Amino acid sequence: MLIDTYGRVATDLRVSLTDRCNLRCTYCMPEEGLQWLAKPDLLTDDEIVRLIGIAVTSLGVEEVRFTGGEPLLRPGLVGIVERVAALEPRPQTSLTTNGIGLRRTARALKEAGLDRVNVSLDTLRPGVFKTLTRRDRHQDVLDGLSAAREAGLTPVKVNSVLMPGLNDDEAPDLLAWAVEHGYELRFIEQMPLDAQHGWKRDGMITAGDILASLRTRFELTPEGDEARGSAPAERWLVDGGPHRVGVIASVTRPFCRACDRTRLTADGQVRTCLFATEETDLRAALRSGAPDEEIARVWKLATWGKKAGAGLDDPSFVQPDRPMSAIGG
Ligand code: SAM
Ligand code: SF4
Repeated sequence: MLIDTYGRVATDLRVSLTDRCNLRCTYCMPEEGLQWLAKPDLLTDDEIVRLIGIAVTSLGVEEVRFTGGEPLLRPGLVGIVERVAALEPRPQTSLTTNGIGLRRTARALKEAGLDRVNVSLDTLRPGVFKTLTRRDRHQDVLDGLSAAREAGLTPVKVNSVLMPGLNDDEAPDLLAWAVEHGYELRFIEQMPLDAQHGWKRDGMITAGDILASLRTRFELTPEGDEARGSAPAERWLVDGGPHRVGVIASVTRPFCRACDRTRLTADGQVRTCLFATEETDLRAALRSGAPDEEIARVWKLATWGKKAGAGLDDPSFVQPDRPMSAIGG
């Protein structure tokens, strides 16, 4: 098992397949993009599948989520999903994506064994989308979402980040739209993980702001801690249900005590937390010919050192060097 000194067990693995992206969301990346990882530094498809295999068969990982950067940009994605879904015991598989290109690949991903997708969409207004992501691709995301639903990658979840002065008035509209289309909406508080270090605690839209805004149009009933389990999102029934809305309040209501995550970057570094300032190099172990047992031992040791919490509201908080797009959100 991947257990830490606080007794938390990591069963949910987030794998970043690339640090590259075809959008430039203002809360994530600068307009000019970033210095991308060099190809030889990236794990190959075989290396990724081997590491996930060790996590699933020897370390108790039950869920594998592919992310990035933009994971749909990874040429071998469908093959990786297929090989991971064939592992025994079969892990749950999901993908976090900006949805661009999903229209073409949703069916192939489903056939390869992908269970679910989370698509990021912050606004229903094409002009605001263009400002927020610096690309004119709103319709592509909407098309990707419908394709995911039609392919049965359900429940299709939608992730939205609200930014002050841009889309912070859209929470009720986004929820009405999600309910109408059968998507499960989750708002994510903006976190200090942008490459530009532009995050400001004072300016951010909090879970409290989001809920107050939603309550102007909807009745929200809390689902409670039992239904939440180790999920980062607190959830509410919308107008008595069955539709739900979630809020991931990493800053104002952190959920570190129940965290069950472990993360692997596209260049083979284990991170125990999005906000960790330390990483453990599994790629070096892999490429030096270490057997599976040795890699599992290194991964366990890294997990043992996991910190109690991210401490975002702590004045001593230091933003990690890697931005969200290079960690895997
Ligand atoms: N490119 C894919 C996407 O956008 O879904 C996957 C990677 S992205 C880093 C994963 C999630 O992180 C997205 O839902 C995105 O909105 C969110 N995200 C990125 N930067 C963030 C930040 N600074 N604060 C909160 N969420 C952020
Ligand atoms: Fe790309 Fe996702 Fe970051 Fe937006 S949030 S720039 S889509 S990695």
